[in-house]
This record gives sequence, C-alpha cells and structure tokens, in this order.
Amino acid sequence: MPLIIIVALALFSVLWLTGEPLRLEWRRRRLRSQPFPAHWRDILKRRVPQFRTLPVDLQLQLKKHIQVFVAEKRFVGCAGLEIDDDIRVTIAAQACLLLLNRRTGYFPGLREILVYPGAFAVRRAQTDAGGVVHEGRAVHLGESSSRGHVVLSWDDALQGAADTRDGHNVVIHEFAHQLDQENGEANGAPPQFGRARMERWSVVLNAAFARLHEQLRLQEEPALDPYGASNPAEFFAVASESFFERPQHLAEAFPELFRELSAFYRVNPLIW
Ligand SMILES: [Zn+2]
Repeated sequence: MPLIIIVALALFSVLWLTGEPLRLEWRRRRLRSQPFPAHWRDILKRRVPQFRTLPVDLQLQLKKHIQVFVAEKRFVGCAGLEIDDDIRVTIAAQACLLLLNRRTGYFPGLREILVYPGAFAVRRAQTDAGGVVHEGRAVHLGESSSRGHVVLSWDDALQGAADTRDGHNVVIHEFAHQLDQENGEANGAPPQFGRARMERWSVVLNAAFARLHEQLRLQEEPALDPYGASNPAEFFAVASESFFERPQHLAEAFPELFRELSAFYRVNPLIW
C-alpha cells in the first residue's frame, strides 16, 4: 500500500477516535435541548413524587438527564413484561438523581436495563469445600453488573419511587453500584477526583461500616439496613438509598458519612 494512503488512513483513524467524545457530547447536548415530552411530565408527576420536592434548577437538570438516559440505554422487558415510557421514565428519573450537579458519563459502562415484572429468581451455582457444585435459586429485586447491565423488578422500582421516605429504593441502590463499578468491581469506593478525597472517603466509610457491625453485634437498633453490613459495596449502596430518602436520619446517625455522600453526590437532600 502506498505510504500516502497509510498516512491518510492513520490520520483519519486519529481524527475519528478523538472526534468520538465530541460527537457524543454534541448528541447529548441536542437531546437535552429537545422539549421534555408532556406525557413524560405526567409520568414523573404520577410515579416519582420526589421530583416535585426538588429545587426547580434540579428538576430541570433531571429532565435533561432523563432525555439522554432514555435515548442511550436499552430497556429489555423480561418474563413477558412489555417496556413502555412509564417504565423507562420512572427508572431513568430515579437513576439520574445520582447524576445531578456532577460531571457525568451517564453510567458509561451500562448498556441495558433488564426489567422483570416483579422479584426474579437467579440461578446460582456454588462450589463447596469438597468441590461439589450446588445449584441454588435466590430471589432478587435488583442486580448490577460491571459487564454492562442492571436488572430490576418493576414492582419494586415502582414501590421505591412511590415511598420517598422509607429509605428503600432499589433503583438508587443498583445505580449506586454502577457508579462504584466505574473503576472496576464494586468495592464501596466509587471513583473520585483526588487522592486525599479517596483516602478520607475510605476512612469515613470504614468507620461507619464498623459502627453498623457494632450495632448489629450489640443488638442495637441499626442506623442503616443491616444488608449494608454484608460488605463495603453494599454499605455504599444502602447508605446512598438512605442519603436520598432519609437524609435527616442519616445526617444524625452518621454525620461524617452524610457529609462525604453530600460531597460525592453534590446535593443536599436535607433542604429538599
Ligand atoms: Zn447491592
């Protein structure tokens, strides 16, 4: 192949690769500038009461994020569930709460959201110490994978949106895992700018995680869902649910953790 063609191809590839983020940003800007569909607004009104409690500037931001999220992510109905805008917008609104005021790639590793009508059974194979594989079935409300998908129970996504103050929200939970999985497997330490910040995060989260364990050991009333004591990744996801749905409670029980989450999510749900 003549050198000139090789050079032209190389140049074209470089321009194409460096142009991709620009094209993506341009597409997103265009999506955000479209009018928000009136029937989507009705869905927010009916299904996501927390939307109305947000300050107006955050409502506007959330609507723009929803437009990008719905356009970019594939929703797949499972076990006979038909996907419609009701499902797309209700799930997108809760997921995008986690993106407000932040520089975001819109959960860049996530390609699709699988939605079941209700809680779903997951077949799991576990190998015991003797090397025997046992097949088990566990019931789940949601799952988040670092390989590009989230699985949700629609019943529970709806219930999570409807009760904004019970501290349980499966969509917030699974999408907190997605943020955590942006730098590898979920470990309770989502990517943040600056080493000092990551270190402080680790100290505060570990202390709160240990405190929750202590409360459970002493059979005290746990300040967070005991499921958060499973491991640091679950602790971060459970604390995120509490941060958005029971901010007053979290701020009183774990003030330093509340401050870290508020710095990470760049919002203060105490004033909503
Ligand atoms: Zn989890």
